[in-house]
Amino acid sequence: MQIHLTNTLSRTVEPFKPLHDGVVRMYSCGPTVYNTAHIGNMRAFLFTDLLQRVLRVVGGFKVQWVMNITDIDDKTIRDSAIGSPLWQADMGAQTEDARENLRTFTEFYAKVFVADIAALKIHQASFHAMPRATHYIPQMQELIRLIAEKGFAYERGGSVYFNVAAWRNADKYGKLFKIDAENFQEGVRIDADEYDRESVSDFVLWKGKKDGEPAWDFEFEGKNILGRPGWHIECSAMARELLGLPFDIHTGGIDLCFPHHEDEIAQSKAGYGVEPVNYWCHNEFLEVEGDKMSKSKGNFYTVGDLTAKGIDPIDIRWLMLSAHYGSRLNFTFAGLEAGRKARFRVQEYIYDLWERSAGTVAAASTNTTAEALRTAVFGELANDLQTPKAMAELFTFINRNPASSVESSLAAALLGFLQELNDILEVWQFTARPAQTLAVPPEVAALAEARWQAKRTKNFAESDRLRGEIAALGFVVKDTKDGYTLEVA
Ligand code: AMP
Ligand code: ZN
Repeated sequence: MQIHLTNTLSRTVEPFKPLHDGVVRMYSCGPTVYNTAHIGNMRAFLFTDLLQRVLRVVGGFKVQWVMNITDIDDKTIRDSAIGSPLWQADMGAQTEDARENLRTFTEFYAKVFVADIAALKIHQASFHAMPRATHYIPQMQELIRLIAEKGFAYERGGSVYFNVAAWRNADKYGKLFKIDAENFQEGVRIDADEYDRESVSDFVLWKGKKDGEPAWDFEFEGKNILGRPGWHIECSAMARELLGLPFDIHTGGIDLCFPHHEDEIAQSKAGYGVEPVNYWCHNEFLEVEGDKMSKSKGNFYTVGDLTAKGIDPIDIRWLMLSAHYGSRLNFTFAGLEAGRKARFRVQEYIYDLWERSAGTVAAASTNTTAEALRTAVFGELANDLQTPKAMAELFTFINRNPASSVESSLAAALLGFLQELNDILEVWQFTARPAQTLAVPPEVAALAEARWQAKRTKNFAESDRLRGEIAALGFVVKDTKDGYTLEVA
């Protein structure tokens, strides 16, 4: 099916066409491993995971997907110098060697990240499994030299900066993010990795070493500048090394548009002379009561926080997938619970279909009804990953076609389609309904026993009254040939 995506470059939904037939090359800004990622960060990774699965399953593409690990930036350096109880418990004491501390600190949090994304069933980026930025420092240095050779970088005070004024004469700066010209501060330099739109100025490509910081040698214009890369240069150099330029899709959270992605475009185009990316795709924020979930606001949950509360990580996955990636999503526990119920409605339907097809699964194309459902649901996914509309199609179908009315060949074809859909969503199980072990509270069991005795002694008024009491506690009594069973109401 033809895939359409919102491209931040044009701010419109565009038909997606890869540079090479049948293959999509995609780069995602990965986590900065200075701490445990929160579920707001996870929304960004769930979005890219959804995108690559839709490209594979609905679009029929092969996907070469790279997601880097930022293991060097302001925050990883700051926190590896301070240390963290978790890391130290895992790795032992900090050493005198700042580079070694940075390495073990970031590897520890990379491990935590891998466990969290596994719990959420996010596929690991498949082409190069999560390359570390520190493994690509020579490529970053090479790009900085190229930018300088073209006249768009200069050294000042032991650091190297990108010359935004010179670049603005050569090309547009502000392709993803509308930058007000009056905010541009010519000749002002900014060293921080993260800054806001009020601080549009020359940004740092290579930062001279400060006391106690990890550092690498860098031969630049005849001298050695001991230091480390700026954050933006990392993704420019890694994407080019691992995917080649130009490539098809670049993803990240909406907050990365400026400065990270804007600077990435400027660096790659200035240094390599190529417009690096055809489609820029950004996910909106996960919010808590109208505010972006973030570490700095302290309004965040990690996957671990939620599983400790007994929440199934698959319900986190479902909640995020049920909203369109381009709209803000407010995180609430009520939303998680409602999502869980919706997910289980489909799961119950799958168990019922399984029973009706006697475990036979067939391609959706073997049945016109199943094929029509597939076209409707996949059509919504192909249309800029409209997951809420895709799910609405599915629920409408389930409401109109209760499992009791589905004959066996349709059941098998529906199972085939739902399995395909599950290659994208990965939230259901395809088995016979597991035997239920019902936890019956003792007072319900006692009432059921009393009702049974009342019925045996033909005291029907009493047995009806007891049935009502049992129902009020959320259970249904069903009479069988030689006794009764209890089910959840
Ligand atoms: P970081 O590890 O800070 O580099 O962030 C990793 C990813 O999470 C980036 O793509 C961010 O844009 C994204 N992100 C951070 N906070 C949120 C949030 N509350 N909702 C959605 N995405 C977020
Ligand atoms: Zn990046």
